[in-house]
Amino acid sequence: MDIRIIQATPDKLKQKPTDESQLGFGKIFTDHFFTVKYHTGKGWYDPAIEPYRPIALDPTAMCLHYGQEIFEGLKAYRGKDDRIYLFRPTENIKRMNASAERLCMPVMDTDLFMDALKKLVLLEKDWIPRGEGTSLYIRPTMIATEAALGVHPSNEYLFFIVVGPVGAYYSEGFSPTKIFVSDEYVRAVRGGIGAIKAAGNYAASLYASRIAIEQGYTQVLWLDANQRKYVEEVGTSNIFFVIGDELVTPPLAGTILPGITRDSVIRLAKSWNVKVSEKPLSMDEIITAQANGTLKESFASGTAAIVSPVGQINFKGEVYVINGGKIGGLTQKLYNEILQIQYGQKEDPFGWRVKIAG
Ligand SMILES: *Cc1c(COP(=O)(O)O)cnc(C)c1O
Repeated sequence: MDIRIIQATPDKLKQKPTDESQLGFGKIFTDHFFTVKYHTGKGWYDPAIEPYRPIALDPTAMCLHYGQEIFEGLKAYRGKDDRIYLFRPTENIKRMNASAERLCMPVMDTDLFMDALKKLVLLEKDWIPRGEGTSLYIRPTMIATEAALGVHPSNEYLFFIVVGPVGAYYSEGFSPTKIFVSDEYVRAVRGGIGAIKAAGNYAASLYASRIAIEQGYTQVLWLDANQRKYVEEVGTSNIFFVIGDELVTPPLAGTILPGITRDSVIRLAKSWNVKVSEKPLSMDEIITAQANGTLKESFASGTAAIVSPVGQINFKGEVYVINGGKIGGLTQKLYNEILQIQYGQKEDPFGWRVKIAG
């Protein structure tokens, strides 16, 4: 399917940000976006890259009532040599299609998705910032648009991709986070939708997040819904602990998001002969390890930050400090390695990088 491209006229182009230290996250979007529509019986039709604009929805558009809404998050990176790279984009495409399947939404044609990513990023390449750690954030989204009430899978959908420059996550160096274990609210249950990037998961997480923030913490550490005993995820990232000489992370058992960064961390660590275990890990084990000095490091993983060191954990009113509140050696090494692969500064032994220009 050919993508129709309608360029914004020069007078409509936005002012590009000049101070890359002020970019932040998710505040600025570019001049164009990608859209493609779906109708049952007709399939996907009319893919286009067009000037960025608000989208019109009927007040009964089904996404507004029954929550058929999924998304993805990835980035385009500009290397020092001015080349432009994506990082494992086919994994995002696969995951979005897994999300679609789970919410009875149509899967997207893989080639069209990839073509749209590349064409949109190339058209907007002057928006990709150059500073260390900066990037162009890419947000593919799918919403149910059929105008109808009554719970059933929508017969119409809109898939779109917006992109925007984002700043370096660590513009002032690593700052280990303080996390708050929620033993009252849970993120996902077995058999639920915790393993997909569905908008509803994030709405459900806000309340516990607010409580954590009010108490001076950055993120919530979620526990399993059944026993409130095993760690699951932190905020919207996957969680890792270094206990003894082992890197431990919860298994993909249906309640946590299969992070692409999580997978990259596991594969890199294994390639360095670090012992990696994907297994249930209880708060009791973490506390015991902290008490006997074997809890060495903890970090969260995700596209936004790559890895984010955890400096302390509040569990039932007790505060447990990890590695003296400082970033651990393996955390730092994983961060450096993944960053350098993403920006084309290092060999790419796993073939994760996709060069789209230069
Ligand atoms: C997106 C996300 C992650 C991280 O996934 P990446 O592919 O590494 O960015 C982890 N947990 C949740 C809940 C997420 O939404």
